[in-house]
Amino acid sequence: MAEAVVGDDVIDIDPTTRQLEETTAAMLGKEAALFMPSGTMTNQIGIRVHCQPGDEFLCEYQSHVYLYEQGAFAQLSQLVAHTVHGEFGVLDVEQLRPCLRMESDHSVRTRLVCLENTHNRGSGRIFPLDKMTAISDWARQHGLKMHLDGARLWNAAVATNIPEKTWAAGFDSVSVCFSKGLGAPVGSCLAGSEEFIRRARRARKLFGGGMRQSGILAAAALYALEHQYRRLAEDHTHARLLANSIGKCEGLSLLPDQIDTNIVIFRIDPRLGTAANFLAQLQTRGVNGLVTAPQNLRLVTHLDVAKDQILQACHAIEGVAQSLCQFSA
Ligand SMILES: *Cc1c(COP(=O)(O)O)cnc(C)c1O
Repeated sequence: MAEAVVGDDVIDIDPTTRQLEETTAAMLGKEAALFMPSGTMTNQIGIRVHCQPGDEFLCEYQSHVYLYEQGAFAQLSQLVAHTVHGEFGVLDVEQLRPCLRMESDHSVRTRLVCLENTHNRGSGRIFPLDKMTAISDWARQHGLKMHLDGARLWNAAVATNIPEKTWAAGFDSVSVCFSKGLGAPVGSCLAGSEEFIRRARRARKLFGGGMRQSGILAAAALYALEHQYRRLAEDHTHARLLANSIGKCEGLSLLPDQIDTNIVIFRIDPRLGTAANFLAQLQTRGVNGLVTAPQNLRLVTHLDVAKDQILQACHAIEGVAQSLCQFSA
């Protein structure tokens, strides 16, 4: 990062940022890409550029763009979200067909479908490729655009051995993050056609996301792609180790059983107390997590947690569950 060659990306270009954008666009099989400070910004600008005020997009009801971005599509872009209840984030094209609105002066206009892969609230679930393709084929038939929130698309690609460009093929725009499992400190890219990215660049300035010597940050993202990408597979192995331990514990249940990538969510039976209490007990043993519902706890594996620490975490989970079970008996 200290040695990055920099320019001024707001005035014209920053060469290191340009290199990251070209690398990312090539990986995603798109004409161009644009670097931004966050995945929230790449998602919200992606959605905005596809739509006009008064338009509606379809998304899963637990998707990040809907739940965790303050409804920015409404606050900043005057758009409406139409949410559909999926199974751990996965939708079927049959669920979307009835959502398409008829052309009418009374209605908002359906314009876009937004999918998420892997799905954060769905425990890192991989959206099956055939289901995605069926949705994008349907969307295209009806003149709808497709946006992919691929904050963790790298995890889906590593877990399945299906390259990012195959996953991205059915989409007009794709957002990816360098700051999740890849471990870069900051940054996301939005990818799409040249024309789309030209319009996104204008919106990025509007949103305050133009950054001048951004090559310092882009250098970290390039490093992450080069050095931390392959090891995502270890995170998936680690997540399965955690899931095995959780599966053995009385009073704990995995949501869902199937662990696709690097996120493990589990439910704590109320007999053992709340998720907040369970987490407090884990924290005294050096393990952190996130309470996602009163009885649910989320654990995420990443490059800062090594195998021996995972085994320590397994031990801690089993220990806490056992002591709380004894207490409740
Ligand atoms: C993290 C994440 C984002 C982007 O979040 P930022 O904190 O704004 O970078 C978007 N989508 C999903 C699914 C995420 O997990």
